[in-house]
Amino acid sequence: MSGSVSDLLRLDLQGRAAYGAPQLDVRVPLNTNENSYAVPHDVVDAIVSSVAEIATGLNRYPDREFVRLREDLAVYLTRTTGVAVTAAQVWAGNGSNEVLLHILQAFGGVDRLALGFTPTYSMHSIITRTVGTRWVDGLRGVDGGGPFELDAFSAVAQVKEHSPNIVFLCSPNNPTGTALGLDVVEAVYDAADSAIVVVDEAYAEFARAGTPSALTLLKGRDRLVVTRTMSKAFALAGGRLGYLVGTTELTEILRLVRLPYHLSATTQAVACAALEHADGLLATVELLKTQRDRIVSDLADMGLDPVPSDANFVLFGGLADEQLTWQALLDQGILIRDVGLAHYLRVTAGTPQETEAFLAAMRRLAPTHRQEQSL
Ligand code: PMP
Repeated sequence: MSGSVSDLLRLDLQGRAAYGAPQLDVRVPLNTNENSYAVPHDVVDAIVSSVAEIATGLNRYPDREFVRLREDLAVYLTRTTGVAVTAAQVWAGNGSNEVLLHILQAFGGVDRLALGFTPTYSMHSIITRTVGTRWVDGLRGVDGGGPFELDAFSAVAQVKEHSPNIVFLCSPNNPTGTALGLDVVEAVYDAADSAIVVVDEAYAEFARAGTPSALTLLKGRDRLVVTRTMSKAFALAGGRLGYLVGTTELTEILRLVRLPYHLSATTQAVACAALEHADGLLATVELLKTQRDRIVSDLADMGLDPVPSDANFVLFGGLADEQLTWQALLDQGILIRDVGLAHYLRVTAGTPQETEAFLAAMRRLAPTHRQEQSL
């Protein structure tokens, strides 16, 4: 008798849960840290004509080396961060999830181990496991800082304990929102002396003034990789374009694992058009930061416990039962994220109207949903 397909699944994947942020049709979607602002009309026009230009050539495979896109990304980074980045140092994929996969495929494997500091972006461990790499849940808040803080001393001790082949740092960290001091990145890099150190900077454009990027540390650190995305600040989550910066040697290596022509001609055309309009697209960043800061201060006024944020979202605690609050908000058409942390929920900063809808609902709910009320 033949078994079910589930029985045939790789043993190390049996019982694992897939990534599953709910995709519901709601009035106020604030659960996946997208940019709430629609792509502006002039950028839409540029994207449409950029795609029209390449459409007749869709009978051919796209530029496997995505040369123009890498050049445009290098120019964007050099201009906005002040760090001189060359096209040869840039690698891209269908979302930064794919560039993370490429790193794992190249540097992970069955006899290898990756370390990340949870709570952090859930896909770091999920992608790690898909390539049969062992994942170790590192800890935050060990040395008496805030519950989600990671300091150099504790991070180094954990690196020394586990001797990982890959270390994931996330700055600003999802779901906590806080950026990491560069001292932590430097210390982890020095301690993990035979590991690839990945700094996931998906939300870097939203960081508070004066927060330096790990891109400033790349020079002289061959094992350091910084990943970024156009899904958040660029308002291009549907375009699926993420990228990384590392050494030329590293980007050469990633060609061993990517599928041929992994970036479609349309993806390349859309991303290049968006990069040409970077300033217009990024104009929403300051607006979203204002809403983010408003969420932090208003939730604190309600007696809740928001975590200060460098991203376009806020993690907040102080809830008696986070699942009840999540459902009560959803009943009003407001979808936020239950990240699996007891007493906490995460909300994306949206337009002023969306943010107000969330805050107004929370003002009504807070008196009965706060933690102390249930004791
Ligand atoms: N890194 C972090 C920290 C994220 O939060 C996300 C998206 N939620 C990603 C990477 C992946 O985004 P994308 O694949 O859309 O670039």
